[in-house]
Amino acid sequence: MNSQDLLRVVQEFDSPVYVYDAQIMEGQYKRLTQAFKNVKNLKVNYAVKALSNVSVLKLLRSFGCGMDTVSIQEVRLALEAGVEPNDIIYTPNGVSMEEIERAAELGVQINIDNLSILEQFGTKHPSIPVCIRINPHVMAGGNTNISVGHIDSKFGISIHQMPHIKRIVENTKMRINGIHMHTGSDILDIDVFLYASEILFQAATNFNDLEFIDFGSGFKVPYKKGDIETNIEELGEKLSTRFNAFCESYGKDLTLAFEPGKFLVSDAGQFLVKVNVVKQTTSTVFAQVDSGFNHLIRPMLYGSQHEIENISNPVGRERFYSVVGYICETDTFANNRRIAEIREGDILAFHNAGAYCFTMSSNYNSRYRPAEVLWYKGLAHLIRKRETFEDIIRNQVEIDL
Ligand SMILES: *Cc1c(COP(=O)(O)O)cnc(C)c1O
Repeated sequence: MNSQDLLRVVQEFDSPVYVYDAQIMEGQYKRLTQAFKNVKNLKVNYAVKALSNVSVLKLLRSFGCGMDTVSIQEVRLALEAGVEPNDIIYTPNGVSMEEIERAAELGVQINIDNLSILEQFGTKHPSIPVCIRINPHVMAGGNTNISVGHIDSKFGISIHQMPHIKRIVENTKMRINGIHMHTGSDILDIDVFLYASEILFQAATNFNDLEFIDFGSGFKVPYKKGDIETNIEELGEKLSTRFNAFCESYGKDLTLAFEPGKFLVSDAGQFLVKVNVVKQTTSTVFAQVDSGFNHLIRPMLYGSQHEIENISNPVGRERFYSVVGYICETDTFANNRRIAEIREGDILAFHNAGAYCFTMSSNYNSRYRPAEVLWYKGLAHLIRKRETFEDIIRNQVEIDL
């Protein structure tokens, strides 16, 4: 979709609004499956937490995606989207035994990431097959905010605890049908990822009933010019060869699973906002938009740099701006950014707004969460209404004072 299409979306549905391009998601899905075309059984489970609108889940399901979920509510969303329970993997961290049992009752693949629950679950439900999340202690990226493979990470069961895992499995007679890792959200170096994979292959030899090996995600997508991007094609070639050799030695065609979130949806999303005020201070020109970290928190939380484009004045002379929000808190989206001249009323598009943007939004300052629109086959479909005051007040209980 082009800038004119985006401007029409704002005309029709107002701002701020998230817009997702179905074609880009499909392209990413195809790129991934193409890269692993030499693997007999490939399973792509979309990480629901990246963007969890039911219509988006339906779309991804139509491509052939399963779903990777981290809460019982995400399991329910996936089921709502028509995904079969056996196409859903449930990979929670630190949730109660009760919630895991509820997910098991719904028939989804359970993935356990601590010894305590593994022992409890195996003792109570030895007949329900379980996947184990291993922490190989390999850091995929350099940013400690989003790396989960380090030694004191709360994620996964340490590879060094394999003897204990084996003891639990032997004692409970539970069946381990999958083994999993998710080392973080930034695969910068494919060789580091392959190194972690070797640890997972080694771990896999401890189990005789495996059906799949899940390599998680962490595929990096470029946010700004010059950003490193995971070379999926190279990873596909190298990991496929290694995976096929492993299956040969294991004596069975296993399924190779991934669970990408960002890779599938990030670039497909644009967040459109309107400029309320252009404010000149002694040193800075601020463009204040009708949004804030209540709608898009990644720049403040992770220091993410979303490209910002002035789509209503694309040929304007470029100047430097600080793009900030309207909430009563520091909410800087971008500092000293070169953007085509911004006038009050202009529409700015934040790029790469598909993953971890809407799903992390809140009602802070009692503002409404934005509408969401899916651009599908040349048409704009409203897939989430903008909130109203009713939504703000809904669960509040007014007592008589
Ligand atoms: C968040 C998450 C993912 C998706 O990570 P991306 O970086 O968005 O691809 C995959 N697996 C698990 C277990 C996760 O928690």
